[in-house]
Amino acid sequence: MAVLDPSFKRTLKRYGAGDFSACYNCGTCTAVCNLSEKNAEFPRKLLRYGMLGMKEEALADPALWLCYACGSCSDTCPRDADPKAYMAALRRYAVARSEPTGLTGLLFTSNPLSIVFSLVLALVLGFFMLTLKPDHVVSRWIFEALPYEIIHNVGLIVMILTVISMLFGVVMMFRRLFKGFKLPERPWAALVDAVKKTIVELISMKRYRSCDNDEESFWRTRPLVTKPWFVHLSIMWGFIGLLVATAVNFILKDPGTQVWLPTRLLGTISGIALVYGSSLAIYYRLAKITSSYKKSSLSDWLFLGSLWFAGVSGFWMEIAVTADWASSLNRIVFLLHTVVSMELVLLFAFSKFAHAFYRPVALFTHFFRKA
Ligand code: SF4
Ligand code: SF4
Repeated sequence: MAVLDPSFKRTLKRYGAGDFSACYNCGTCTAVCNLSEKNAEFPRKLLRYGMLGMKEEALADPALWLCYACGSCSDTCPRDADPKAYMAALRRYAVARSEPTGLTGLLFTSNPLSIVFSLVLALVLGFFMLTLKPDHVVSRWIFEALPYEIIHNVGLIVMILTVISMLFGVVMMFRRLFKGFKLPERPWAALVDAVKKTIVELISMKRYRSCDNDEESFWRTRPLVTKPWFVHLSIMWGFIGLLVATAVNFILKDPGTQVWLPTRLLGTISGIALVYGSSLAIYYRLAKITSSYKKSSLSDWLFLGSLWFAGVSGFWMEIAVTADWASSLNRIVFLLHTVVSMELVLLFAFSKFAHAFYRPVALFTHFFRKA
């Protein structure tokens, strides 16, 4: 029997939901949603869960993660219940509930705390960067108080805790999504099929593309490279490419200064994709180009702003190295670039970034359950 939580509505509003209590269950939103399916009917059903306080049912429904926030439902809702904002708030809540430390919930629901936390973390990381050079003038007094090994080991422990937190969240989500689920007749065939479909969707996001190509969509006649689907894909592949290039450079212990080196080429192309995608996404939000970009939370701005800055400052460094341009400004840019990039990675499990590993889990579950 469902356990009802009367405070759930209030909770979701703290996570950014609009006035979804205005919903009178007409179903227009589900009818216009290009991604809603027979066995994954949303957003109407999920709105009902929210209104009735059925939070466990809402969290156990993978449909929550099938939405790509195109905004068609909010455009057509006769009651201004803003189902798109509701879905986004529910996803934030789902991330916070899966993450064991409680930090994500605090960051998502308190803007002042989120800003202070980001700034303090940036300062700590900045000091950490300075201590990487034990003979640096600033770090000498730090080492007198705190040996280098301790600082290094604390950093390592924080990284490990972040990864554990992420894995814990994924396991929690799997448990929630598969609760009470009976295996299909041919589980191995269903598993292979679900993995295949999940990979195809993650690589291509073709379901997202279908939103842009919908007959009613503002984007239908717009150039491909400006569509939200392409913008999202550019950001995702740009970031993955940069991560791979950085990791290979780190493993080989060779930053490679020649432009034509494969890792350098990969980094440059990925950087262009990341800066292009994040610039357009920021512009769309600033210009509120369609209703889906009208409301942005602080977590949206912090996430996009960090990605954009990491990409642009990365290019600054690349140009400075290629042109052999020596300036103390480059040191500051390098420090800021590293701090922002490290913050992105460290907050991976505690920010909007977390959708990068929760969405694949939900997609897999959806395809597996459908098999
Ligand atoms: S959210 Fe709006 S469109 Fe959807 S069921 Fe409620 S009132 Fe109808
Ligand atoms: S925002 Fe778009 S994808 Fe999400 S529920 Fe609404 S119509 Fe569907």
